[in-house]
Amino acid sequence: MRRVLAIALSLGCAAAVADRLHGATAAPVIPAETRRVAESLRESAFTGTRASEWVRGLIDTAGPRLSGSPGDKAAIAWGLTTLKALGFANVHAEKVMAPHWERGVETGEVTAPHPHKLFLTALGGSVGTPESGLEAEVIEVGSLDELAAKKEADVRGKIVFFNKRMRRTADGAGYGETVPVRSKGASQAAALGAVGVLIRSVGTDSNRTPHTGSLRYEEGVPKIPAAALSIPDADLLERLDRDGKVRVRFTLGCRDFGLSETANVIGDIPGRGNPEEIVLLAAHRDSWDLGEGAIDDGAGCGVIIEAARLIGALPKRPRRTIRVILVANEENGLAGAKAYEADHAAELPRHVAALESDLGAGRPTGFSWNAGPSAEPLVREIAALLEPLGGNDVRSTGAGGADISRLVLAGVPLFTVRQDASRYFDWHHTSNDTFDKIEPEELDQVTAAVAVFAYVSASVPEPFEKIPVERRVLPPSDGDRPPR
Ligand SMILES: [Zn+2]
Repeated sequence: MRRVLAIALSLGCAAAVADRLHGATAAPVIPAETRRVAESLRESAFTGTRASEWVRGLIDTAGPRLSGSPGDKAAIAWGLTTLKALGFANVHAEKVMAPHWERGVETGEVTAPHPHKLFLTALGGSVGTPESGLEAEVIEVGSLDELAAKKEADVRGKIVFFNKRMRRTADGAGYGETVPVRSKGASQAAALGAVGVLIRSVGTDSNRTPHTGSLRYEEGVPKIPAAALSIPDADLLERLDRDGKVRVRFTLGCRDFGLSETANVIGDIPGRGNPEEIVLLAAHRDSWDLGEGAIDDGAGCGVIIEAARLIGALPKRPRRTIRVILVANEENGLAGAKAYEADHAAELPRHVAALESDLGAGRPTGFSWNAGPSAEPLVREIAALLEPLGGNDVRSTGAGGADISRLVLAGVPLFTVRQDASRYFDWHHTSNDTFDKIEPEELDQVTAAVAVFAYVSASVPEPFEKIPVERRVLPPSDGDRPPR
């Protein structure tokens, strides 16, 4: 009897979902009052927010803030002070032990067939070279596969030059295609006896500003020094290589200081009815050391702080808690994301949604999601609310960003406001990641989108269906891959 009822209920439920998906007459999932408030949030944010003010506060106070650096510590203090001043509750830092690596001196030159200076920068986590530098003949390859097809005799004793071009795309997909060269190239080259690695920067500009980013050394393979060439310098090496043998010398003064203490910074806008249920808004507080970390990811920090602040300032707060987390160590270890997952394991079943903002400061173009299938009508209605802000590119293949992607293991529904990233990779991870690259109006639009998402998620009577058990698997990891 009970089983018959269960089947009837599940059939009824499926029919209701089908109605919502296909029936023009299906009732909206978002209650009228919630929709009205969301629309007014959107309109007021669209005409101006304080998001870029928070970005400026972070980067002018802390500057570059790689884990373990003085800037990292200053950014923790800034986060605590700012969230408290803005009226967040439960503001605190949660200890994280993260890799502490420093860059040191960097020089590069072509020594034969003709002398040329090279603009390069160490990949994050690279070992240093001997103080006098490392000099060897260069072997050029276009990809990891091309290297794998080489004989050990061709590679041994040489510097492997990975000359893979990144495609400029509006959604940043070119990064995912190219970045494995940066993360895996050093160990793959070392396994064939190479003594060093140079890569064409994973970027889309033509400046002499090389793009750093982390590499991952494999266990059991010698660790060799690895650096990124600026794109014009990669072009030079490509031209010279066409004419015959090329020799390069480079010096990297990188040092590894093991683990050092840093922190995730957290603040809540407590819910009115179900404060134990959480909508998590994440952005990473750390940045690479070369620039100011304005677009990566000062922008995301400014967006989520401002979106939560706007909701906290409403006459009536939503029923669930909106939590802001400024995550530690996204760039070179993901230790902050792992610490949050471990420290809040008991609370994760009550996380109804997580969204990460980590794709720069470009305008919104859509929305991506990863949740159970019955969440689709609600997702579609949220996407429709966001549509006046920009594009309507809605994708159900979202994996969140690097800082929230692990929450898939607990089934937490994951979201991203998609953004125009067509210029993001001109500046990403370079000394050119500075405040002037932020257009406050575009950041306001992203803030509006995140505020609408967070408000609706925290207000609707029924939260999103969790990610089904069979889809609770980690996406392939390339370290700092931005939200999809
Ligand atoms: Zn980032």
